[in-house]
Amino acid sequence: MRILLVEDDTTLCTQLREELTEAGYIVETAQNGIDAHHLGATEPFDAVILDLGLPQLDGLTVLKKWRAADHTMPVLILTARDAWHEKVDGMDAGADDYMVKPFHVQELLARLRALIRRASGHASVELQCGPVVLDTRTGKVSVNGRSLALTGHELRVLSYLMHHPDTLVSRTELTEHIYAQEFDRDSNTIEVFIARLRKKLPQGLIKTVRGLGYQLVTPE
Ligand code: CA
Repeated sequence: MRILLVEDDTTLCTQLREELTEAGYIVETAQNGIDAHHLGATEPFDAVILDLGLPQLDGLTVLKKWRAADHTMPVLILTARDAWHEKVDGMDAGADDYMVKPFHVQELLARLRALIRRASGHASVELQCGPVVLDTRTGKVSVNGRSLALTGHELRVLSYLMHHPDTLVSRTELTEHIYAQEFDRDSNTIEVFIARLRKKLPQGLIKTVRGLGYQLVTPE
């Protein structure tokens, strides 16, 4: 899952980036409103953490511009403690959730997981596809109740597919959501991860749609 983190406080930005990376997310950062708007408008993100007090272009304006241009990714805003009206303005402008500074990172991570799940239509913290269960809180995967050891990349690929079951996912889309840097994005490596996942998962779960991509198939 790929997150855009927009925060001009360098210390907080660095800390959050580390925590999010630790939690398994691919993180891109922006420290002003102009960069944030550009990234959010041109690249695919599974969620955005958006501070409202930003230089060059304030967070509220950035959010309004995204929504006006039909960018529907979930956005969690960060608001200052004494500015209750920011929450109201932010939610009215299209934010999906908010956190008031200072906050506990664990709470931010929980809200982020919930946003990403809801955006893909899942209400439970556990995603299930036949015998395969992914606990989105821990990133642990099990098959028929037995835990499965996956590498970071394998988990990212499987997690993306499990958030979008029975949906055709192109290799480009997968690549964009599991790599941070453009130069890492060699879509051939996706095939390698898929091949490894197939060896570890029940047969027939990941279908190749020739020339188009992959589909996680929910067993009948
Ligand atoms: Ca700020």
